[in-house]
Amino acid sequence: MNTSIDWSLLAICLAGATLAGLAVYHAVAGYYHYRYYVRRRHEPETWKCQPDRFLTPALHRRAIFEGSRNLAQGGVVTGCLVYAIIDGKLETPIYTDVAEYGWAYTLGMTVVLFVVMDYIDFLVHRTFHIRSLYRHVHRLHHRFVATSPYVATAGHPLEFLALQAASFAPLFLIPFHAASIAAVLLYILVFNIVDHSGVRLTSILPWQPPSRFHDDHHAHFHVNYGQHVMLWDRLHGTLRRENRRYGQEVFGGRGLPEDGTVATEPAPFVRY
Ligand SMILES: [Zn+2]
Ligand SMILES: [Zn+2]
Repeated sequence: MNTSIDWSLLAICLAGATLAGLAVYHAVAGYYHYRYYVRRRHEPETWKCQPDRFLTPALHRRAIFEGSRNLAQGGVVTGCLVYAIIDGKLETPIYTDVAEYGWAYTLGMTVVLFVVMDYIDFLVHRTFHIRSLYRHVHRLHHRFVATSPYVATAGHPLEFLALQAASFAPLFLIPFHAASIAAVLLYILVFNIVDHSGVRLTSILPWQPPSRFHDDHHAHFHVNYGQHVMLWDRLHGTLRRENRRYGQEVFGGRGLPEDGTVATEPAPFVRY
Protein backbone atom coordinates (compact mmCIF):
# COMPACT_ATOMS: atom_id res chain seq x y z
CA MET A 1 0.00 0.00 0.00
CA ASN A 2 1.16 3.52 -0.83
CA THR A 3 1.90 5.18 2.54
CA SER A 4 3.01 8.64 1.38
CA ILE A 5 0.41 11.39 1.29
CA ASP A 6 -0.29 13.27 -1.94
CA TRP A 7 -1.06 16.62 -0.27
CA SER A 8 -2.25 18.40 -3.41
CA LEU A 9 -4.72 15.59 -4.22
CA LEU A 10 -5.91 15.61 -0.60
CA ALA A 11 -6.43 19.39 -0.76
CA ILE A 12 -8.43 19.07 -3.99
CA CYS A 13 -10.64 16.32 -2.49
CA LEU A 14 -11.25 18.27 0.73
CA ALA A 15 -11.99 21.54 -1.07
CA GLY A 16 -14.19 19.84 -3.68
CA ALA A 17 -16.34 17.92 -1.19
CA THR A 18 -16.69 20.83 1.22
CA LEU A 19 -17.38 23.54 -1.35
CA ALA A 20 -19.82 21.37 -3.32
CA GLY A 21 -22.00 20.76 -0.24
CA LEU A 22 -21.87 24.39 0.87
CA ALA A 23 -22.60 25.69 -2.65
CA VAL A 24 -25.70 23.50 -3.04
CA TYR A 25 -26.90 24.38 0.49
CA HIS A 26 -26.55 28.13 0.09
CA ALA A 27 -27.88 28.19 -3.48
CA VAL A 28 -31.05 26.14 -2.77
CA ALA A 29 -31.72 27.51 0.74
CA GLY A 30 -30.94 31.05 -0.46
CA TYR A 31 -33.41 30.66 -3.32
CA TYR A 32 -36.30 29.62 -1.05
CA HIS A 33 -35.37 32.18 1.58
CA TYR A 34 -35.38 35.04 -0.92
CA ARG A 35 -38.48 33.85 -2.80
CA TYR A 36 -40.66 33.44 0.29
CA TYR A 37 -39.12 34.87 3.47
CA VAL A 38 -37.99 38.11 1.76
CA ARG A 39 -40.38 38.66 -1.17
CA ARG A 40 -43.54 37.27 0.46
CA ARG A 41 -42.83 37.92 4.13
CA HIS A 42 -46.01 40.05 4.40
CA GLU A 43 -48.42 37.26 3.35
CA PRO A 44 -47.34 34.11 5.24
CA GLU A 45 -50.90 32.69 5.27
CA THR A 46 -50.64 32.16 1.49
CA TRP A 47 -47.47 30.01 1.54
CA LYS A 48 -46.23 29.10 5.04
CA CYS A 49 -46.81 25.75 6.78
CA GLN A 50 -46.87 27.55 10.15
CA PRO A 51 -48.01 31.09 9.22
CA ASP A 52 -47.93 32.35 12.83
CA ARG A 53 -44.40 31.23 13.59
CA PHE A 54 -41.08 32.60 12.32
CA LEU A 55 -37.56 32.02 13.57
CA THR A 56 -36.15 34.91 15.59
CA PRO A 57 -33.26 36.70 13.83
CA ALA A 58 -30.84 35.06 16.31
CA LEU A 59 -32.16 31.55 15.59
CA HIS A 60 -32.08 32.26 11.85
CA ARG A 61 -28.38 33.18 12.09
CA ARG A 62 -27.80 30.12 14.29
CA ALA A 63 -29.37 27.84 11.65
CA ILE A 64 -27.10 29.24 8.92
CA PHE A 65 -24.00 28.88 11.13
CA GLU A 66 -24.76 25.31 12.29
CA GLY A 67 -25.97 24.20 8.86
CA SER A 68 -22.79 25.49 7.19
CA ARG A 69 -20.50 24.11 9.92
CA ASN A 70 -22.05 20.63 9.74
CA LEU A 71 -21.79 20.56 5.96
CA ALA A 72 -18.14 21.66 6.16
CA GLN A 73 -17.50 18.89 8.71
CA GLY A 74 -19.27 16.38 6.45
CA GLY A 75 -17.23 17.66 3.49
CA VAL A 76 -13.98 16.98 5.37
CA VAL A 77 -15.09 13.39 6.13
CA THR A 78 -16.22 12.82 2.53
CA GLY A 79 -13.10 14.52 1.11
CA CYS A 80 -10.80 12.28 3.20
CA LEU A 81 -12.70 9.17 2.08
CA VAL A 82 -12.58 10.18 -1.58
CA TYR A 83 -8.85 10.90 -1.30
CA ALA A 84 -8.12 7.56 0.41
CA ILE A 85 -10.04 5.69 -2.31
CA ILE A 86 -8.46 7.57 -5.26
CA ASP A 87 -4.96 7.25 -3.80
CA GLY A 88 -5.36 3.51 -3.21
CA LYS A 89 -5.31 3.71 0.59
CA LEU A 90 -8.81 2.35 1.04
CA GLU A 91 -10.45 -0.59 -0.74
CA THR A 92 -14.15 -0.23 -1.51
CA PRO A 93 -16.45 -1.86 -4.11
CA ILE A 94 -17.22 1.62 -5.60
CA TYR A 95 -16.66 1.68 -9.38
CA THR A 96 -16.43 4.41 -12.04
CA ASP A 97 -16.74 2.46 -15.32
CA VAL A 98 -20.39 1.57 -16.10
CA ALA A 99 -19.15 -1.28 -18.34
CA GLU A 100 -17.97 -3.14 -15.24
CA TYR A 101 -21.55 -3.97 -14.17
CA GLY A 102 -23.69 -2.59 -17.03
CA TRP A 103 -26.37 0.11 -17.20
CA ALA A 104 -29.23 -2.01 -15.80
CA TYR A 105 -27.27 -2.80 -12.63
CA THR A 106 -25.97 0.76 -12.27
CA LEU A 107 -29.39 2.41 -12.63
CA GLY A 108 -31.19 -0.23 -10.56
CA MET A 109 -28.64 0.04 -7.77
CA THR A 110 -28.99 3.84 -7.75
CA VAL A 111 -32.63 3.31 -6.72
CA VAL A 112 -31.57 0.65 -4.21
CA LEU A 113 -29.01 3.03 -2.70
CA PHE A 114 -31.65 5.76 -2.34
CA VAL A 115 -34.08 3.37 -0.62
CA VAL A 116 -31.42 1.86 1.66
CA MET A 117 -29.98 5.25 2.66
CA ASP A 118 -33.47 6.62 3.28
CA TYR A 119 -34.34 3.70 5.56
CA ILE A 120 -31.02 4.03 7.42
CA ASP A 121 -31.69 7.75 7.91
CA PHE A 122 -35.17 6.90 9.24
CA LEU A 123 -33.70 4.43 11.76
CA VAL A 124 -30.93 6.79 12.87
CA HIS A 125 -33.38 9.69 13.19
CA ARG A 126 -35.79 7.54 15.17
CA THR A 127 -32.93 6.45 17.45
CA PHE A 128 -32.12 10.11 18.13
CA HIS A 129 -35.68 10.48 19.42
CA ILE A 130 -34.96 8.09 22.32
CA ARG A 131 -35.38 10.25 25.42
CA SER A 132 -31.70 10.54 26.47
CA LEU A 133 -30.30 11.03 22.95
CA TYR A 134 -33.04 13.51 22.18
CA ARG A 135 -32.37 15.59 25.29
CA HIS A 136 -28.61 15.69 24.86
CA VAL A 137 -28.19 15.73 21.08
CA HIS A 138 -31.19 15.90 18.74
CA ARG A 139 -33.02 18.61 20.73
CA LEU A 140 -30.67 21.12 19.11
CA HIS A 141 -32.29 20.44 15.72
CA HIS A 142 -35.75 20.76 17.30
CA ARG A 143 -35.09 24.27 18.66
CA PHE A 144 -36.29 25.24 15.20
CA VAL A 145 -40.00 24.55 15.73
CA ALA A 146 -40.86 26.71 12.74
CA THR A 147 -38.34 25.53 10.20
CA SER A 148 -36.58 27.52 7.50
CA PRO A 149 -34.55 26.28 4.50
CA TYR A 150 -31.28 26.75 6.43
CA VAL A 151 -32.44 24.43 9.23
CA ALA A 152 -31.95 21.38 6.96
CA THR A 153 -28.44 20.55 8.22
CA ALA A 154 -28.50 22.54 11.50
CA GLY A 155 -28.14 20.64 14.75
CA HIS A 156 -25.52 18.79 16.79
CA PRO A 157 -22.30 17.94 14.87
CA LEU A 158 -22.25 14.45 16.46
CA GLU A 159 -25.68 13.73 15.02
CA PHE A 160 -24.53 14.82 11.57
CA LEU A 161 -21.48 12.56 11.86
CA ALA A 162 -23.59 9.58 12.98
CA LEU A 163 -26.02 10.09 10.09
CA GLN A 164 -23.16 10.34 7.62
CA ALA A 165 -21.35 7.25 8.97
CA ALA A 166 -24.52 5.12 8.92
CA SER A 167 -25.53 6.35 5.45
CA PHE A 168 -22.08 5.57 4.02
CA ALA A 169 -21.94 2.01 5.48
CA PRO A 170 -23.55 0.33 2.40
CA LEU A 171 -20.82 1.85 0.18
CA PHE A 172 -18.28 -0.48 1.79
CA LEU A 173 -20.41 -3.59 1.23
CA ILE A 174 -22.12 -3.39 -2.19
CA PRO A 175 -20.77 -2.10 -5.53
CA PHE A 176 -22.26 1.31 -6.46
CA HIS A 177 -21.19 3.64 -9.26
CA ALA A 178 -19.52 6.84 -8.00
CA ALA A 179 -22.03 8.98 -9.96
CA SER A 180 -24.97 7.08 -8.35
CA ILE A 181 -23.60 7.95 -4.91
CA ALA A 182 -23.14 11.62 -5.86
CA ALA A 183 -26.67 11.77 -7.34
CA VAL A 184 -28.31 10.22 -4.24
CA LEU A 185 -26.37 12.50 -1.86
CA LEU A 186 -27.35 15.54 -3.97
CA TYR A 187 -31.01 14.44 -3.90
CA ILE A 188 -30.92 13.97 -0.12
CA LEU A 189 -29.40 17.42 0.47
CA VAL A 190 -31.72 19.29 -1.92
CA PHE A 191 -34.90 17.64 -0.64
CA ASN A 192 -33.81 18.07 2.98
CA ILE A 193 -33.73 21.79 2.29
CA VAL A 194 -37.15 21.63 0.57
CA ASP A 195 -38.56 19.57 3.50
CA HIS A 196 -37.29 22.18 5.96
CA SER A 197 -38.29 25.17 3.85
CA GLY A 198 -41.35 25.87 5.99
CA VAL A 199 -43.10 26.59 2.68
CA ARG A 200 -46.12 24.51 1.62
CA LEU A 201 -44.50 22.64 -1.29
CA THR A 202 -45.54 19.47 -3.09
CA SER A 203 -43.41 17.37 -5.40
CA ILE A 204 -44.12 15.86 -8.80
CA LEU A 205 -42.11 12.84 -7.63
CA PRO A 206 -44.79 10.40 -6.40
CA TRP A 207 -42.71 8.99 -3.51
CA GLN A 208 -41.62 12.37 -2.14
CA PRO A 209 -44.03 13.63 0.56
CA PRO A 210 -45.04 17.32 0.66
CA SER A 211 -42.94 19.60 2.88
CA ARG A 212 -45.74 19.64 5.50
CA PHE A 213 -44.82 16.04 6.40
CA HIS A 214 -41.45 17.03 7.91
CA ASP A 215 -42.76 20.42 9.01
CA ASP A 216 -45.22 18.46 11.19
CA HIS A 217 -42.23 16.59 12.65
CA HIS A 218 -40.92 19.95 13.90
CA ALA A 219 -44.34 21.18 15.03
CA HIS A 220 -45.22 17.91 16.85
CA PHE A 221 -41.72 16.53 17.70
CA HIS A 222 -41.85 12.73 18.16
CA VAL A 223 -43.65 11.60 14.98
CA ASN A 224 -43.00 11.43 11.19
CA TYR A 225 -39.35 10.34 11.40
CA GLY A 226 -38.95 9.65 7.66
CA GLN A 227 -37.38 12.00 5.19
CA HIS A 228 -38.02 11.23 1.53
CA VAL A 229 -40.75 8.58 1.71
CA MET A 230 -43.61 8.09 4.21
CA LEU A 231 -43.54 4.29 3.88
CA TRP A 232 -41.23 3.68 6.87
CA ASP A 233 -43.47 5.67 9.22
CA ARG A 234 -46.54 3.81 7.92
CA LEU A 235 -44.84 0.44 8.51
CA HIS A 236 -43.55 1.39 11.97
CA GLY A 237 -46.81 3.10 13.02
CA THR A 238 -45.07 6.45 13.60
CA LEU A 239 -46.90 8.45 10.93
CA ARG A 240 -48.93 11.24 12.54
CA ARG A 241 -52.48 10.16 13.34
CA GLU A 242 -55.71 12.16 13.52
CA ASN A 243 -56.96 13.19 16.97
CA ARG A 244 -53.71 12.35 18.77
CA ARG A 245 -51.77 14.67 21.04
CA TYR A 246 -48.06 15.10 20.39
CA GLY A 247 -45.43 17.28 22.03
CA GLN A 248 -41.82 17.57 23.14
CA GLU A 249 -42.50 15.40 26.21
CA VAL A 250 -44.62 12.77 24.40
CA PHE A 251 -42.01 10.22 23.33
CA GLY A 252 -42.45 7.04 21.30
CA GLY A 253 -43.78 8.25 17.94
CA ARG A 254 -47.42 7.37 18.52
CA GLY A 255 -48.69 10.33 20.53
CA LEU A 256 -51.40 10.15 23.18
CA PRO A 257 -55.20 10.10 22.96
CA GLU A 258 -56.42 13.69 22.85
CA ASP A 259 -59.01 13.20 25.58
CA GLY A 260 -56.72 11.23 27.91
CA THR A 261 -58.65 7.96 27.46
CA VAL A 262 -57.17 4.73 26.12
CA ALA A 263 -58.15 4.33 22.46
CA THR A 264 -59.57 0.94 21.46
CA GLU A 265 -58.91 1.45 17.73
CA PRO A 266 -55.84 3.17 16.30
CA ALA A 267 -56.82 6.55 14.85
CA PRO A 268 -56.37 6.95 11.06
CA PHE A 269 -53.12 8.40 9.73
CA VAL A 270 -53.12 12.06 8.70
CA ARG A 271 -53.33 12.35 4.91
CA TYR A 272 -50.47 14.30 3.35
ZN1 LIG B 1 -36.29 14.78 14.81
ZN1 LIG C 1 -35.77 18.45 10.66
